Amino acid sequence: MKSEATYLPISLRLDDARALVVGGGQVASNKLRLLLGRCPDIAVLGPVHDPEIVSAIEAGQVTHLGDAIVPDALAPLLEKMRIVFAATDDAALNREIAALGRKMRVNLCVVDDPAPSTFITPAIIDRTPVQIAISTDGAAPVLARRLRTRIEALLPDGISRLARFMRAQREWIREVQPDTTARRRAWEAFVDGAGAEQALRGDEPAARASLEKALAGVPVSGEVWLVGAGPGDPDLLTLAALRLMQNADSVLYDQLIPPAIMDRVRRDAERVFVGKRKNHHTLPQDRINEELVRRARQGERVLRLKGGDPFIFGRGGEEMEALVEAGVTVRVIPGITAASGCGAAAGIPLTHRDCAQTCVFVTGHARADGTLALDWPSLARKGQTLAIYMGLAPLADLCAQLQAHGLPGNWPAAIVEHGTRHDQRVHVATLATLPALVKERRVVSPALTLVGEVVEHRREIHRDNL
Ligand code: SAH
Repeated sequence: MKSEATYLPISLRLDDARALVVGGGQVASNKLRLLLGRCPDIAVLGPVHDPEIVSAIEAGQVTHLGDAIVPDALAPLLEKMRIVFAATDDAALNREIAALGRKMRVNLCVVDDPAPSTFITPAIIDRTPVQIAISTDGAAPVLARRLRTRIEALLPDGISRLARFMRAQREWIREVQPDTTARRRAWEAFVDGAGAEQALRGDEPAARASLEKALAGVPVSGEVWLVGAGPGDPDLLTLAALRLMQNADSVLYDQLIPPAIMDRVRRDAERVFVGKRKNHHTLPQDRINEELVRRARQGERVLRLKGGDPFIFGRGGEEMEALVEAGVTVRVIPGITAASGCGAAAGIPLTHRDCAQTCVFVTGHARADGTLALDWPSLARKGQTLAIYMGLAPLADLCAQLQAHGLPGNWPAAIVEHGTRHDQRVHVATLATLPALVKERRVVSPALTLVGEVVEHRREIHRDNL
């Protein structure tokens, strides 16, 4: 698992270090602001114009080393610094300083000039002790700042209060509960429960009581979470799905779960692929059930991540039954099913007052003998939409049967391929022409077939995948 990034976001210790800002204008001032408070020994070199720097010097927070910047004489000064910003308004001078700093292996940043720099500054959200650094690897600082605004909006007000409270509890909790896993679970129960709210509000006695309860009540038995991951776009995960993905000890998943969603599972969770491998069949359902039970009995919190909704053609019902029968605690989190996701992403409504009062979710999964056992007369009706899952392989048969049972050959039909994902394609045709079109365009799974006049209401709409 190799990162393609050039930069590693780390948290640099500065409370025992010296820092230097070269330059005295507004750009320098912006960098000085990052250092003030974090670093006890800050020096500024160069002519100072910025009023904030002037007042920091007057207040004794910063040492002014003079106006003259002589690169040749800088070496002894740079040597003492853990971090240096070259922020003069002279690009060539900045680069000269950077060249020197690089030779001396000092952490040095030329503002707005990553090439000669050894580090760049991320966009920072500072709710100390919580700090969030957003890096785009230098590619798009404006995007980083926009993301910062969005993330800021998500953070609860008292987040620093909560973090301070948690820091204050760490020592005694380590004494009373030496087991790392049990401790992590207690913390998770605390953060997910009422305790976090109490700490956010600043009600420390109540928060402390909640934490003690979490510590005492840590369940030793595992659980299984049947979680719907939606049709593929990670933005379509529910908040509950995301939270459980972050808390799981292990995750069982199959080919319907794209990497973009797996990326959001807790890094340390064990990943178990139970889908189809090349030339192999899917792990039989019994074996999956057994594996879920086995892991839960060992005390694991097992995430069974399923494409779309776990209870729609996902065999989630069977897994729930097996688990309950085995006495395992189960939670089920619904997900956006392929029909909803594909309809929305393709601009095709599933029902419409003019033409579709019913929407039927139907599986095109063939029986062992290859035939489709469907109630054709009820499906081949006007006034309804068919959302056909797993209907790609038997598509020709499907379209033929629907026509044989009364729908006209020019009846609208569409396929949404890789719905909601970046590589989504929509293929619009009729019952008579869809099979040939699908062959011609080499449509691949997962793909959802939609049949009915709603297809004619399709509009090209804007998709926001950010
Ligand atoms: N539980 C899932 C369905 C599992 S059956 C749900 O609720 O969506 C697998 C079928 O779902 C696929 O063969 C395909 O028909 C459909 N499907 C799942 N994800 C899809 C996607 N992103 N785009 C199109 N069809 C999808």
